Amino acid sequence: LVEAAVAAGAELRAGFSVDELLAEDGRVCGIRGRERGGSAVVEKAHIVVGADGMHSTVARCVSAPEYNAKPPLQGPYFSYWSGVSMKGFEFYPGPYRGAFGWMTNDGLALIGVGFAAKDHPAVRADIEGNYLRAIAEDAPDLAERVKHGRREERFVGGLVPNYFRKPFGPGWALVGDAGYLKDPCTAEGITDAFHSAELLAEAIDSGLGGGLPLDEALATYEERRNSSALPLYEFTCQLATLEPPRPEMQQLLMALRGNQEQTNRFFGIFAQTVSVPEFFAPENMQKIFSRDQSACG
Ligand SMILES: Cc1cc2nc3c(=O)[nH]c(=O)nc-3n(C[C@H](O)[C@H](O)[C@H](O)COP(=O)(O)OP(=O)(O)OC[C@H]3O[C@@H](n4cnc5c(N)ncnc54)[C@H](O)[C@@H]3O)c2cc1C
Repeated sequence: LVEAAVAAGAELRAGFSVDELLAEDGRVCGIRGRERGGSAVVEKAHIVVGADGMHSTVARCVSAPEYNAKPPLQGPYFSYWSGVSMKGFEFYPGPYRGAFGWMTNDGLALIGVGFAAKDHPAVRADIEGNYLRAIAEDAPDLAERVKHGRREERFVGGLVPNYFRKPFGPGWALVGDAGYLKDPCTAEGITDAFHSAELLAEAIDSGLGGGLPLDEALATYEERRNSSALPLYEFTCQLATLEPPRPEMQQLLMALRGNQEQTNRFFGIFAQTVSVPEFFAPENMQKIFSRDQSACG
């Protein structure tokens, strides 16, 4: 992607850090930053896009308002192990926690445990102890393999907030985690970041190319981002409570047993190939439950 952008005329400055935004007449018109170890540099622009993650400098400088925010719900701690083989994707739900793992590169297994936010103060006091105890209690077979393996990296993880930020204003826009973030339990962050980048690129193209006034095009970006993101945001936040599935969800999961087509569609929610409203539409629920009843009968 970076190569394609550079080939299309973009200039990439690795190691460049943005310190503050410049404004004229209430409109952002550039940035002040510096190369690593260098002196201050000023750059002017029609629009400054903050693609700078959850601790976004751009969002902070413009005081981008947050909405639909929820406090952190759960957070994983994970590390990489040698000498542990995984059987595909493994997941072990436990009480307000869940252990998970799969193989990555160089023969290393990523193994993590997500802990409910309420338990984080106690978990942080002894990450390794709580991590190993959760695996031993909820996943004895995995614990046995871990016992013969070796942890190769430090623990990574912690709590992640959930928010939407107003993603544009006079002369500025936000994209990716800078503009919208949710719990990592459904692993959507990279897909979401690319999706919002595509929507924002279309809006800026339309706004600077004369298709629509820029502010109108950016308002369309916010609407499109939110309408596609909100249902999955709510679904993810529900899962991230790590509470046992509600009775209606338990019934649905039971009804999916033996129904491969609809099971694939359910997991399509996580891959964003099937939308939450599409899957949970009354007609689809009726299809799933009527097939389940006829299979039982
Ligand atoms: C524990 C955890 C597990 C996750 N697991 C998954 C997963 O399995 N799948 C998935 O899709 N997503 C996952 N995510 C989310 C995913 O990592 C993010 O959603 C994604 O990286 C967001 O991309 P981004 O480009 O918006 O932000 P980032 O990847 O955060 O990139 C922002 C960049 O901006 C730079 N930057 C910041 N401030 C400045 C500044 N002032 N000047 C210059 N540069 C700056 C940073 O150095 C960084 O390079 C996970 C996140 C967490 C925390």
